[in-house]
Amino acid sequence: MQAVKHVGMVCGLCGDVRAVYRSPYSGKAYCRGCFIEAFEKRVVRTISAYRMFRRDDRIAVAVSGGKDSLALLNVLAKIERGYPEAKLFAVTVDEGIEGYRTEAVENAVKFAARLDVPIHVVSFEELYGITLTEMMARPEITRLGLQPCSVCGPLRRKAINYAAKKLGATVVATAHTLDDIVQTYMVKVFRGELGFADVGLRYDGPAIPRVSPFRLSPEREVVLYAFLCGIPFQSYACPNAVKSMRDPIRTFLTAYEERHPGSLYSALRSFERVKTIQNKRLVFCESCGEPASRSICRSCEILASLAR
Ligand code: SF4
Ligand code: ZN
Ligand code: ZN
Repeated sequence: MQAVKHVGMVCGLCGDVRAVYRSPYSGKAYCRGCFIEAFEKRVVRTISAYRMFRRDDRIAVAVSGGKDSLALLNVLAKIERGYPEAKLFAVTVDEGIEGYRTEAVENAVKFAARLDVPIHVVSFEELYGITLTEMMARPEITRLGLQPCSVCGPLRRKAINYAAKKLGATVVATAHTLDDIVQTYMVKVFRGELGFADVGLRYDGPAIPRVSPFRLSPEREVVLYAFLCGIPFQSYACPNAVKSMRDPIRTFLTAYEERHPGSLYSALRSFERVKTIQNKRLVFCESCGEPASRSICRSCEILASLAR
């Protein structure tokens, strides 16, 4: 991202003439300090409104090493200082994606050390005996007709839960933004799975719950927050991202939000209402006990096909 230009906007909160951002929702301009403060306050409000954490939680933050997850670690580390009974640590998964993951894992480890947050790295190779790149070359995966993200996503979730359980976590926090959450609901619509599970909200059940404190934070504001806080950005995007089912949905939703600011918030409210009307019970995988949309979850299905 380029350096922020001050274009003569006046901060609507403190009157500083070096405002860096104008919200497309409220029309209000923010200087660096006021933006950071407002951003962090909204995360606190989100956590409280959706009852994401308990005072004595052991929180495992899923950190990919990208800007969003490092931004989440930054905010939660600050918030956690006010809750001495809570514990915070980071979990990073190395999927073994050549030319991409090394830098991300390095960023995650360095940044966690800067915040003095313990970090644990688990790899696909150590857990499943095979990297993602190797898996994608296997005929069993070709037969299932799966794209890299459809393999990586569920297996990474499983790896994070495995590490979180081992470390005694009571909740996993992920850096999914408002944009990601709405995209996930949309993917569920196209898969016919809407209504089976909330996305990024705490649930009771046998598996460790996952929450998304950036649920009400638009992606563009998370990026700006990361930039203003000096969080490292990755030089490369994952080469597999363009093949994902979510990619065209992301492109469409981003363009729509650009033309009609606030649409993502409206979409989120609609999806939350659908969930309330449907009120379906969560289903847990018969094999691994994780939340699923059918009796055997996708990750167990993938691992079973490789073991055959
Ligand atoms: Fe995995 Fe897809 Fe994300 Fe790459 S873009 S890390 S393959 S889920
Ligand atoms: Zn200000
Ligand atoms: Zn399973």
